[in-house]
Amino acid sequence: MVDASLRATILGSLQTLHRERGISIIYITHDLATAYQVADSIIVLYRASVAEAGDVERVVKQPLHPYTQLLIGSVPRVSIERNWAGEESTAQGEDHGHGCRFAPRCPVVMAQCRDAPPGLFLTEPRRAVACYRHAAAAPLPPGRLNQVLAVASDVANL
Ligand code: SF4
Repeated sequence: MVDASLRATILGSLQTLHRERGISIIYITHDLATAYQVADSIIVLYRASVAEAGDVERVVKQPLHPYTQLLIGSVPRVSIERNWAGEESTAQGEDHGHGCRFAPRCPVVMAQCRDAPPGLFLTEPRRAVACYRHAAAAPLPPGRLNQVLAVASDVANL
């Protein structure tokens, strides 16, 4: 929440620390645009659960989870055709406490989504998504998110 020039300075400093000192950085933000700018890998969380994870370029440019798709769709872009409030709207349903956490808001919810939470599915070697729409992919065993992020196992033992 700083002005654009100060934000650019701070992000530049973080990148310099990473590049010149080899320092790893965990950057926690609601701002997908700056996450895309500074990160190699990204974990998208929804209500404290992993929705999607992987290489930032792939996740931001081709989001697989409906929540990531809505997040990216809500990023303002300069266009006279585009609604600044975002093109998507999500229904606000009732959360029954089981099933997928995103089900009450999901525009593509299915019956099975309300029965049990989806695990993570490995859609690519460095890509995982917690969504039954990708259940044809291999399941990612619990605690192996480091495999997707290509980091040490003690960094992302989620
Ligand atoms: S598992 Fe179902 S409710 Fe959850 S994000 Fe996927 S389609 Fe939507």
